[in-house]
Amino acid sequence: MAAQTYLFPCLNDNFGVLIHDPQSGVTASIDAPEAAPIEAALKKTGWRLTEILVTHHHADHTQGIGELKNNHQCRVVAPRAEAARIAHVDETVGEGDTVKVGGLSGRVIETPGHTAGHISYFFPVEKLAFVGDTLFSIGCGRVIEGNPEMMWHSLLKLRGLPDDTQFYCGHEYTAANIRFAKTIEPNNQALAARADEASRQLAAGKATIPATIGTEKAANPFLRADDAEVAKSLGLSGSPAWKVFAEIRERKNRF
Ligand SMILES: [Zn+2]
Repeated sequence: MAAQTYLFPCLNDNFGVLIHDPQSGVTASIDAPEAAPIEAALKKTGWRLTEILVTHHHADHTQGIGELKNNHQCRVVAPRAEAARIAHVDETVGEGDTVKVGGLSGRVIETPGHTAGHISYFFPVEKLAFVGDTLFSIGCGRVIEGNPEMMWHSLLKLRGLPDDTQFYCGHEYTAANIRFAKTIEPNNQALAARADEASRQLAAGKATIPATIGTEKAANPFLRADDAEVAKSLGLSGSPAWKVFAEIRERKNRF
């Protein structure tokens, strides 16, 4: 049986997500924004928590770890570069490392920029990616600890995943991201289609994720900073893509 995922809201606008291997019964929580909704998700699914895979050290991704570890004695996997800032870590990982979730095999991709040691987890067989606060649907994380060039290269790594990869991010920011994206590419048809889809999802009380890398490549301005038309519309023709990215990020910060 294929991997199963279960997505649910945490805190104000965070996502919680579980990935479960039915064969082995192993279940990982991606990050731990808040213990109670994760416990509720485990109860609802009947899955037993065995792992927590941490993307970065921010409190809204880690503050549930202590309670969950206490309740389930689960293994906590975290980015090597941030392990000192995350409590209860059992195993640290970096670029190219493999993380086993029962019979499922995830690859660690270092995606610094939002934080200096941020990592993402990619399961190539299942075509699932867990990208924390690096990539959002039609947006990206704020560049807090890194610099725009670093963040652009991290986004390029995620953009390079197969188009049909479904990715899960840390927050439900899609509607606001779409409002901003339209100011960068008002005539982007893929963006218009994604906007319609997201409106329908939100109106039905559903999450707007997972989304696919293929859709993001066509519609997310932060992944399109090397598109000549995007650069031109920002008055940055001929500039390196990361500078175009930096301008888009700066405009979003002020939006
Ligand atoms: Zn964060």
